[in-house]
Amino acid sequence: MTAQRLDGRKLAKTIENDLAPKVAALTREIGRPPRLVVVLVGDVAASASYVKSKAAAAKRVGITADVFSIQESTTTAELVSTVEAIGRDEHGPADGILVQLPLPDHVDARAVLDAVPPDRDVDGFHPVNAGLLSQGRPHFIPCTAAGVQKMLLDAGVKTRGKHAVIVGRSDIVGKPLALLLASRGPGGDATVSVCHSHTSNLKEVTQQADILIAAVGIPQLITADMVKPGAVVIDVGINRISDGGTSRLVGDVDYDPVADVAEAVSPVPGGVGPLTVAMLLENTFSAAKERKKRSFMAE
Ligand code: NDP
Repeated sequence: MTAQRLDGRKLAKTIENDLAPKVAALTREIGRPPRLVVVLVGDVAASASYVKSKAAAAKRVGITADVFSIQESTTTAELVSTVEAIGRDEHGPADGILVQLPLPDHVDARAVLDAVPPDRDVDGFHPVNAGLLSQGRPHFIPCTAAGVQKMLLDAGVKTRGKHAVIVGRSDIVGKPLALLLASRGPGGDATVSVCHSHTSNLKEVTQQADILIAAVGIPQLITADMVKPGAVVIDVGINRISDGGTSRLVGDVDYDPVADVAEAVSPVPGGVGPLTVAMLLENTFSAAKERKKRSFMAE
């Protein structure tokens, strides 16, 4: 079997093309483009590159993205106060606020993320948004989890009654994705298993998956013998490996052999990554639209 390749780039382009005219209309209504403020701490090359691609995508659809670059030596208190000031629009209107992770080890990331006002939390990491998602009334959904669900919906993959196995239980990917796939309605109603580093016999669990999602951060952890024939496999992992003097990106899934047994597989790069960015644009647009509604109601 040669699996269908789930093309995240193509879907992200479609999402951008749908969004651009809506952003243009909102820009006319509010008299300025929606604005995303990204807080980038330190000089981690991967983070800088993710921020660059988020800013470029924002520009393509007409959203302004401004990056606040902050020195690695900053403290938790300084960062919290910067994020709070951005949240009070002291640095211009901030419809969406995103703190690029990871933060340096000496910073309390939780405290910084909690400082983002929930109604501008376009990454969906604030406990209010995490709580709303867990109660089945989502507001801002974490972008990667939303992107995976979008990819499944777009590919016509049925989730209802299926067994979805997620490898990884992080707050930013695994957990929100488990909630989404187990939620009621389209793209949900799955029976969800969540695996992690203490799961015994991982292979026995993954072999039962109709839909297998890897969000671990270990190159090619998921091998063909761990995949049920005909399963849909989504690879969230992004790992840089050295290969004969050059470096390249690989996912958590051993793509070619897995594609021989699976029905569909998402590639890395070009799979979930572009959709994460597209969902961020959608969240930022929604945040700006809701803000307009709030200001209208306050008048
Ligand atoms: P975390 O490191 O926060 O979480 C990794 C998870 O994998 C943890 O739950 C951990 O278990 C589990 N794990 C580790 N080793 C094993 C193992 N041997 N078997 C089973 N489970 C294991 O990572 P993130 O969730 O932030 O990211 C996961 C991957 O996804 C990374 O490669 C990251 O770069 C990528 N990513 C990609 C995005 C995209 O847009 N495509 C966006 C965000 C992340 P435990 O909880 O027990 O430690």
